[in-house]
Amino acid sequence: MSTTKKSTKPRKASKGAADPALDADWEVAPTQALRVGPGFDLAAFDRRSTPGFAGDKASGQALVARHADELSELQERLFAEGRSGGSRSVLLVLQGMDTAGKGGIVRHVVGLVDPQGVAHRSFGVPTPEEREHDFLWRIRNALPRPGYIGVFDRSHYEDVLVARVDELVPPAVWEARYDEINRFEEEVVAAGTTIVKVALLVSYEEQRARLMERLERPDKFWKYNPNDVDSRRKWPAYQEAYQAVLDRTSTETAPWYAIPADRKWFARLAVSELLLDALRGLDLGWPPADFDVEAEKKRLAAT
Ligand code: AMP
Ligand code: MG
Repeated sequence: MSTTKKSTKPRKASKGAADPALDADWEVAPTQALRVGPGFDLAAFDRRSTPGFAGDKASGQALVARHADELSELQERLFAEGRSGGSRSVLLVLQGMDTAGKGGIVRHVVGLVDPQGVAHRSFGVPTPEEREHDFLWRIRNALPRPGYIGVFDRSHYEDVLVARVDELVPPAVWEARYDEINRFEEEVVAAGTTIVKVALLVSYEEQRARLMERLERPDKFWKYNPNDVDSRRKWPAYQEAYQAVLDRTSTETAPWYAIPADRKWFARLAVSELLLDALRGLDLGWPPADFDVEAEKKRLAAT
């Protein structure tokens, strides 16, 4: 478990004290505090809350910074394993309404690790070629190879979100997709990928403020799309569709984590914890040399 350089240094005693990897400001482990279980009620979910975390913005930001070295080292171990015949990978799935902060997670959390080991993919409106195939076709093609941290900015879940809200396919078609998605994810996990599904949940009011900021700042115009207002107008239908996703696809194999996203610092802290937990859970070592180290030293010394 605590095999990395950084995790061997002494840590502050934590209130729970059971988990030495848990910072004192986490009163409940993030994987527990944020996990979507039966009875999860999206309508009642406070999007400015900080579930499980007792610290403030400054301590949250400091904690993310402190995670950087460990995240980076574990990612390198994963990459090394992939290079040495391993089959494991991690897939971070980011879902959320416009302005929920998906891009910020990529920049501020995924950005803490070596970009060589990251396979990032964003999913927009399907291309004509993609539309000729099953909805999972483009997703399968984008799965991370062994050793990589894959990041999906939107995902196959759009096919039960926008597709459902905008009636892009008949109800019987999107209805069948929840089970298809669960089966698909079972398969992906069985093949060696740890899936971390993150729903970034921004409030209606905060989304308005963030969209308005995009319209007021020339350096943010590029992030604005007039369609964003059209999606916003369908807010209740989207919330209903998100509720269905969380009810029906938060499985033992690939659970959802609900992240309050009105405070960007908290969302970033939460996702950094979830990613770290996934990597720690792999119990990654360093691949042994597949050559004779002593013989190589002698050969080198002779040059
Ligand atoms: P953005 O992520 O803000 O750049 O926007 C991407 C757009 O592509 C969003 O409006 C999504 O709803 C849309 N999109 C993504 N996947 C699908 C899909 N499978 N079917 C239809 N629209 C999609
Ligand atoms: Mg957008």
